[in-house]
Amino acid sequence: MTNYIDLHTHSTASDGVYSPTELLGKAKEVGLRVLALTDHDTTGGLEEAAQAARSLDIDLIPGIEINTDVGGGEVHVLGYFLESWRPEFQAVLKVLRDARERRGQRIVELLNEHGIHISWERVREIAQGSVGRPHVAEALLEAGYVQSIGEAFDKYIGNGRFAYVPRYKLTPEDAVRLVASANGLPVIAHPLELPGLDELRKWLPGLCEAGMVGLETYYGQYTPENERVLHALADEYNLIPTGGSDFHGPGIHPTPLGGRYVPYEAVERLQAEAARRRGKTPPPFKLPTPVQEK
Ligand code: AMP
Ligand code: ZN
Ligand code: FE
Ligand code: FE
Repeated sequence: MTNYIDLHTHSTASDGVYSPTELLGKAKEVGLRVLALTDHDTTGGLEEAAQAARSLDIDLIPGIEINTDVGGGEVHVLGYFLESWRPEFQAVLKVLRDARERRGQRIVELLNEHGIHISWERVREIAQGSVGRPHVAEALLEAGYVQSIGEAFDKYIGNGRFAYVPRYKLTPEDAVRLVASANGLPVIAHPLELPGLDELRKWLPGLCEAGMVGLETYYGQYTPENERVLHALADEYNLIPTGGSDFHGPGIHPTPLGGRYVPYEAVERLQAEAARRRGKTPPPFKLPTPVQEK
């Protein structure tokens, strides 16, 4: 069976393997008609993706994924139908990416201090766009310090390992408000991994208050039972159930591009909500000060 929709993917603009053009090519190959590109903290891949999508007759939904912190846990917030050209919005994304740069450099320093010699220049080169730990992992793999990306996280850069450096993150509510400040639609990503169902129940009222509009229900390897629970929660809070693969490239996440069935209703409901917002003056977003490095 061919799936037509994938609303969660990454390109080389963040930590995906394929460039936006290559990603759209793969999307065409597997028969997708609607694709959302949701790179971490950057919309840098969207223009190229939109061009490729036009020539392949695929509907591209401009998106983003923002990782946030809640008292020790994490919530990832997806944003759909962003008006990504808005300068105030881009200025905030730049702050988030700059924090990623400083943190990446610090990770490399820590590795170097422990006799592990990879260079920041090489990590930067591998990253191309928005830099993340997967790029450090790749540099470690390339230099022969580990045999796999997973091993790099387990040994060196995973949470609690010696070269782990926390990253500056927004609160989930602020990420919701940031997405809304570009007239985008905030959606909670992979809710069962992060933050987990119990945490999610605790956070949902506040997140909805802040303007959440969707809940990623048809995600990756979620079982029919997972899907049922999430769909019920989405209904309870009047959230749009969305979904996708979280494709980063072959072998990075278990679900291939287009590997998850997402009902067309998800796209229709997102489109309808986006149409209500388009062209309106969005609510302003102010970065919380002082910006903490955590
Ligand atoms: P960062 O945003 O720089 O903190 O990097 C987080 C990204 O690293 C996540 O989006 C995952 O794709 C990846 N990641 C986190 N933990 C692991 C792991 N144990 N193995 C492989 N990739 C991981
Ligand atoms: Zn990623
Ligand atoms: Fe995520
Ligand atoms: Fe993702």
